Amino acid sequence: APASSNNFIKTIVTEDLKSGKVKEVVTRFPPEPNGYLHIGHAKSICLNFEIADEFGGRTHLRFDDTNPAKEDTEFVESIKEDVAWLGFEWERLTFASDFFGEMYDRAVLLIRKGLAYVDDQSADQIRESRGTLTEPGKESPYRGRSVEENLDLFARMRAGEFANGEKVLRAKIDMASPNINLRDPVIYRISHAHHHNTGDAWCIYPMYAFAHPLEDAIEGVTHSICTLEFADQRPLYDWVVRECEMDCTPHQYEFGRLNLTNTVMSKRKLKLLVDEKVVDGWDDPRMPTISGLRRKGFTPEAIRDFCREIGVVKTNNSVVDDKMLEHFIREDLKLKAPRTMAVLQPLKVIITNYPEGQIEQLEAENNSENEAMGSRQIPFSREIYIERDDFMEEPVKGYHRLYPGNEVRLKHAYFIKCENFVKDADGSVIELHCTYDPETKSGSGFTGRKVKGTIHWIEATQARPAEFRLYEPLILEEEGEESESFLDNINPKSLEKLQGFVENNMKDAKAQDKFQFFRHGYFNVDPKETTGEKLVFNRIVSLKSSFDA
Ligand code: ATP
Ligand code: MG
Ligand code: MG
Repeated sequence: APASSNNFIKTIVTEDLKSGKVKEVVTRFPPEPNGYLHIGHAKSICLNFEIADEFGGRTHLRFDDTNPAKEDTEFVESIKEDVAWLGFEWERLTFASDFFGEMYDRAVLLIRKGLAYVDDQSADQIRESRGTLTEPGKESPYRGRSVEENLDLFARMRAGEFANGEKVLRAKIDMASPNINLRDPVIYRISHAHHHNTGDAWCIYPMYAFAHPLEDAIEGVTHSICTLEFADQRPLYDWVVRECEMDCTPHQYEFGRLNLTNTVMSKRKLKLLVDEKVVDGWDDPRMPTISGLRRKGFTPEAIRDFCREIGVVKTNNSVVDDKMLEHFIREDLKLKAPRTMAVLQPLKVIITNYPEGQIEQLEAENNSENEAMGSRQIPFSREIYIERDDFMEEPVKGYHRLYPGNEVRLKHAYFIKCENFVKDADGSVIELHCTYDPETKSGSGFTGRKVKGTIHWIEATQARPAEFRLYEPLILEEEGEESESFLDNINPKSLEKLQGFVENNMKDAKAQDKFQFFRHGYFNVDPKETTGEKLVFNRIVSLKSSFDA
């Protein structure tokens, strides 16, 4: 894999290896299996895997499954698929829940050391008593419980003697600390819930802030990379590793989250879109999920290049123009995707001076920027389809395509001239009558006269029906304006379906094959909706870029 761009985490890793602080870099990607991965996760995946790759280290894929109520094996499977699809191989696959036994033992150790106690206060009471930035916290009336009493109560919590919320285990640190995270954080809670991995073995579950540093230490992670909102938790992370007397000392480093313009990125909101059936599942091409991007037609290369380009900063959460992601898929497909023709909104054209019943084969190059892709044969006959908006009965100023009396070039074929048109009872144009000039055949070197417009077309008798799906942003507001009413801002034009035709050459096109359709952009064969009868194409991106890299 190509080297990642430089960033502050690489600098730290380089120094740690040089000084001998670590022998081998070990990173982890730790998703919670409560949804599908999105493009923001891709940034974290690339960062973790590429750093380890580059320094000959290893990366673990770890499911942070300490919250049984929201987690599901469907999400576990999709996450594995997406990480692998992005092109990364994990050295170990672990579940936080694999370590519940050891975490419990470490909590008991804290109790023995007088560093943890069982609190009977309610969640609200605890939250209130922890104070604010300007006001110190108040100690719990249960803070002074003896080690013996705490050991007994914690064992009974585990045994299932208490209901949800009746008791918690708290670390005993400092209720006056300027860092609220250190004001006796809750480290275990009761939850009588079925867990996707451990079933009903446990009814107490460790909190993230306690579990995460232990998971890292148990697995021998050296550099635990997370997003900025965890910066305030770093002192607690270090406290847990130290006081639990772990053999390995991982360190936490924070970087800025990725946000994209016009894109909802929180898993909670994405889940709402799925549950409310605003979209057709987590892999709807309008979703910023890895599976949605894949189905739309994005490639792993484009996503990885994008993640490298946006870089890694420690100071702020970046908001990146979504056009930039599009730039990278254009770059990736430019020389790879065959360039063929598709008519999205067909209008029939009769070429009146072309012999009836005759079909000729014309040569068409497959990629004008990549000769190695060769060429193909396309049929031409008396009846073709062109794009509806390539004809205007009364042309506006500057319109160089077909109108009565005007001549255009048909890509890979001949010049045709519009002689006449037919309207239906409603007054819409349903057919054009044109003539062609045999002298003007593409590749013949004809220089007799010039035309200003070149349009695409499909021979009518062999045209293959196809559906084209064009996308616009799903949400009309920009991400960042955290609005709870985002469901009211769904873009009614986020999906447009058009029925048209592609070349007969497409008969062997398979799910996920990608093409550049002349003038229309890059398209992907939809893996879910395509049938033997009809190909369905998702537009990945149009041709024109308004983003300058
Ligand atoms: P969300 O808020 O979207 O639910 P999360 O952080 O709760 O995301 P996790 O499953 O816990 O989701 O994330 C796994 C890893 O991916 C974490 O290390 C997290 O920091 C990282 N991550 C999540 N979202 C982003 C993002 N937008 N940019 C960069 N990294 C992210
Ligand atoms: Mg999380
Ligand atoms: Mg979350």
